[in-house]
Amino acid sequence: MDLQLKDKRVLVTGSTGGIGKTLAEHYLREGAVVYINGRSEERCEAIAQELAQATAGDARAAAADLSDGPQTEALVARLEQEGGIDILINNTGIFEVKAFEQISDDEWMHYFNVNILSAVRLSRALLPKMLERDFGRIVNISSECAIKPLGQMVHYSVTKTALLSLSRALAELTKGKNVTVNSVLPGPTWTEGVENYFDTLAEKEGKPVEALMENYFADHEPTSLLQRFVSTDEVASATVYLTSNRAMNGQGLRVEGGIIRAL
Ligand code: NAD
Repeated sequence: MDLQLKDKRVLVTGSTGGIGKTLAEHYLREGAVVYINGRSEERCEAIAQELAQATAGDARAAAADLSDGPQTEALVARLEQEGGIDILINNTGIFEVKAFEQISDDEWMHYFNVNILSAVRLSRALLPKMLERDFGRIVNISSECAIKPLGQMVHYSVTKTALLSLSRALAELTKGKNVTVNSVLPGPTWTEGVENYFDTLAEKEGKPVEALMENYFADHEPTSLLQRFVSTDEVASATVYLTSNRAMNGQGLRVEGGIIRAL
């Protein structure tokens, strides 16, 4: 199927690893020009080179700490100079198991800054240009816990719910335009970030990580129909497809293995 993404200019935030890196690879395989973002210039360069070689595609480093306003503005200015962005995937996100009573105000603010404001800042800068050019796609990578909030990650869950509202509210601004804003809700997906999450969870439960992993879905996610981790390829292919279709606008696409037992 031709998804009509050739030569589209894509920024995938947080794409030096995990879901973001696989997303970047999928867009490159569709012939898009893809900007690789993370906080380290060196790592962005390395991943851009690796992906360019693997896909024979045009991958470019675009380092910036997106929790920082001025760094984000500088990145946007550079991207505009190079022709602008057609597809923005707000994938950057942090997560950690932490007892609710131990999450300080500073940590709450940090979660809002990285998980929500990074998407707000980039959308605020890029959406008006997309509307002007009458082409654009924005996807906010939320999580299944946006609608099934987790007691062991209250701060994270709250930010992911907020992303759903942000996506729908921004979609309201696209009426009649070839611009869409959606969110994707991955379920537990095997990435480096999740590896760290499991180390902490195992420590909290006083179990070896192997024991926790063995029965993880039976013990912790009994409603999962997949009964295994979602792969980064599964999240990426659903996201890429979502950005190929103008009629899919203002919605949340669940790629969570059927964990959420609801219509
Ligand atoms: P990950 O930790 O493996 O990768 C995150 C990426 O974001 C890295 O490239 C990191 O360098 C980058 N990053 C972090 N802070 C940044 C900042 N301030 N500025 C720029 N880049 C920054 O994460 P992942 O598991 O691939 O998750 C990606 C997204 O998917 C996140 O938003 C996460 O909440 C969401 N998600 C993940 C899962 C899962 O199970 N892995 C499930 C649901 C939702």
